[in-house]
Amino acid sequence: MNELISVIVPCYNEEEALPYFYDEITKIEKKMDNFDFELILVDDGSKDKTLDEMKKLAQLDSRVKYISFSRNFGKESAIYAGFKSSRGEYCVLMDADLQDPPALLPSMMNAIKCEGYDSAATRRVSRKGEPPVRSFFARMFYKIINRISDADIVDGARDYRLMTRKMVDTILDMPEYNRFSKGIFGWIGFKTKWIEFENVERVAGETKWSFWKLFMYSLEGITAFSVLPLQLASVFGILFSFIAFVMIIVIVVRTLLFGDPVSGWPSTICIIMLIGGIQLLSIGVLGQYLAKTYLETKHRPIYIEKETNIVDYD
Ligand code: UDP
Ligand code: MG
Repeated sequence: MNELISVIVPCYNEEEALPYFYDEITKIEKKMDNFDFELILVDDGSKDKTLDEMKKLAQLDSRVKYISFSRNFGKESAIYAGFKSSRGEYCVLMDADLQDPPALLPSMMNAIKCEGYDSAATRRVSRKGEPPVRSFFARMFYKIINRISDADIVDGARDYRLMTRKMVDTILDMPEYNRFSKGIFGWIGFKTKWIEFENVERVAGETKWSFWKLFMYSLEGITAFSVLPLQLASVFGILFSFIAFVMIIVIVVRTLLFGDPVSGWPSTICIIMLIGGIQLLSIGVLGQYLAKTYLETKHRPIYIEKETNIVDYD
């Protein structure tokens, strides 16, 4: 019997892109005829007719499975649901908009089968067609997070990745609620081959990422994989206490020698504001981590399924 590849596709408002995606993936399936395929389409609470489109495909092709969420839970939840429902010896994660070229799949499989890697991941070498400001902040984010965390996150890395069952099961064993997949993939280790490709524009529909959403997503990544911001707050505290101590001595000595105790009111106000600002910032940072801890301790489900054609295997 052939080995099975599970193709996991998170979809949010992708009714226009899905038919194109299905066409492309079937072409690749034909080329890789020594493997069986299953398609797991995860409808992340789409507001358009994505689910109808999925049902149509499932009727045409029994290898198409779908899961529909009760609301929009975000791509990370869709990824988790896809992994959880997959049965393949291999799993590949792919966007519905064809920005992750299915044509790379044979060479990704080759890396695992013949070169002994556990996973084959992709990164775009260019950010063509992206606003320059966005590229700049993206680069900064990768620089910072790699400095301050154990998660090895490659610049330009996409979520498009082929993995062995062992790796998928390891990911599923990480039960955290705040899921930052790019970080999780890097953090768990395993041998990964990076395959590079030129940026492709999406085939239909539009991107769900505004600048603000991306910014919040990057904070998510930092708080999920590093505690350095918390440590920085303590460092600032120590530094400012030290400076204050030295200044007290200087001022006491100066007043005793020269008198004139009230001059310097403006500088006092400046210092109070500076320290007040740093205190608020530190409390804010603390709050970020506390909020994450709060959400983790609730143990809420990562997603809620409303409808599916997947029957439980176990
Ligand atoms: N997506 C999702 N839930 C969301 C947002 C996006 O499942 O809340 C899916 C989307 O349908 C697509 C993939 O995640 O298949 C990547 O989204 P998008 O193309 O908008 O991101 P970009 O490629 O611009 O980074
Ligand atoms: Mg896209």
